Amino acid sequence: MPLSLDLLRDKLKDWKGCALAAHANPVLGEGNPYAEVVFIGEAPGAKEDELGRPFVGPAGKFLDELLASIGLKREDVYITNVVKYRPPNNRDPEPEEKLACLPWVKLELALIRPKVICTLGKHALNEFFPALSISRVHGQPQKVNKDFTVFPIYHPAAALHNGSLRQELFNDFAQLKQFLVSG
Ligand code: URA
Repeated sequence: MPLSLDLLRDKLKDWKGCALAAHANPVLGEGNPYAEVVFIGEAPGAKEDELGRPFVGPAGKFLDELLASIGLKREDVYITNVVKYRPPNNRDPEPEEKLACLPWVKLELALIRPKVICTLGKHALNEFFPALSISRVHGQPQKVNKDFTVFPIYHPAAALHNGSLRQELFNDFAQLKQFLVSG
């Protein structure tokens, strides 16, 4: 059977390679398998764990709003996370949890082959560029090679606790739209 996102989702259900899998439900990405733009967050939260879908809680509602601000719907893009299981009490994922889950996101990207990878927050950005700081490079495309560019954006959840980041996020999305139409 050829590898597909559905097969990946199925395989993830039986995977025990990350310690978080003992106490949480698997959450693979979802969306358009032919998307030109993929969004990568950090790890599922409570609602995502409950429903087995990425970005369906409060941060997801805000992400939907941000997408709508540039004329996109969830179905147009693909949305996923670095870590495939919810860390207890929504703590930051540990380096070994990110490392363990990395092959899943690599496989998702290999299947979709997007032109633009929007990293949401520092964890996703640092998977690609460990030395870059999100506060310095958000909204600025980082070309990786001729095939794809990483576009760093603040994490939508950060704006839920910090009002001034809300506008920054809308600005980053406006920059993303500019980049998509010009590229
Ligand atoms: N935050 C994330 O990073 N991912 C989700 O899926 C939800 C909240």
